[in-house]
Amino acid sequence: MRTKRQNGDKKARYPWRFRRYFNPIFKGQALKRDGFYLLLPLGRRRPAIRVHLPQNLPMGRLVQAELGFGEIHLTITRERDEPGVPASGNAGGLDIGSIWLGMVTDGHEALAIAGRGLRSVKQGRAKALARLQKKRSRTQPGSRRRKRLHRARHRLSQKVNQISRNALHHATNQIVEFCVTHQLAVLYTGDLGTLNHKTRRRRSRRTNQTVGVLEFGRLEQYLQYKLRRYNIQLIRISEAYTSQTCPCCGHLNKVGGRTYRCRACGYRAHRDGVGAVNILNKGIHGEIRPGTMLVAQRITYRRPVPFHGTLRRRCG
Ligand SMILES: [Zn+2]
Repeated sequence: MRTKRQNGDKKARYPWRFRRYFNPIFKGQALKRDGFYLLLPLGRRRPAIRVHLPQNLPMGRLVQAELGFGEIHLTITRERDEPGVPASGNAGGLDIGSIWLGMVTDGHEALAIAGRGLRSVKQGRAKALARLQKKRSRTQPGSRRRKRLHRARHRLSQKVNQISRNALHHATNQIVEFCVTHQLAVLYTGDLGTLNHKTRRRRSRRTNQTVGVLEFGRLEQYLQYKLRRYNIQLIRISEAYTSQTCPCCGHLNKVGGRTYRCRACGYRAHRDGVGAVNILNKGIHGEIRPGTMLVAQRITYRRPVPFHGTLRRRCG
């Protein structure tokens, strides 16, 4: 195979197959220490495996052990000792939306991260999974065909999970980068956690779907721990009226399309830009004070990751 490649055969592939066996991983409650021994439980009937730990084990908390063949991999975490730079600096506002995965602003500049690519992948998945499920239901129980379809379904959902996790990591990295370069000490964000449950009824089915697929919980979780590295505080505030209030005159407008138009004063701006600046305004003043902050003049648009949309074709 290697010689073939060297001789210019670009189509030659290394032999491969799916892994059927994986190293068992012990973490959380499955991980117990007994002095210099590590106990890996094997269920009720069998005694736990005892592994002698080396004396020169690094300091920190043992969080995971992966049992390999004749070897064991330990994961040890340690909190950073230094508290970082004391929190002083500017404040920022972050709005998480459906058109834009996130829009962050410091009042002067803004960064918008596109969420469309991700959304279409996830919606595509829902449809493709349904198709596979339908095909599977027409097969005989225990048949090879059924097993294959089952595996295909599993593979597809894992694939999308990986894409979405990757995109969320890239997006949060970009948000954090913005916060660091603009020297933010505090980042205000809407109360996303409650958004999924409480306001569900008031949203249309379509909005619910777009809200549901974007995994705000995960996004916030990533953001939280990444911001902590730079000692930037993430503060949740109530999102109420932040998307409707006119930043210029305070009039409440119904928001239809992607641009925000004020009926009272004629102010026009990007919809999610309005949300972000109002969240910032509310965070600083405790309420939205009209006329103090307008939507940033300079908005940078970015996508979380270059996305080529090959997934649907391959798995559909
Ligand atoms: Zn207005």
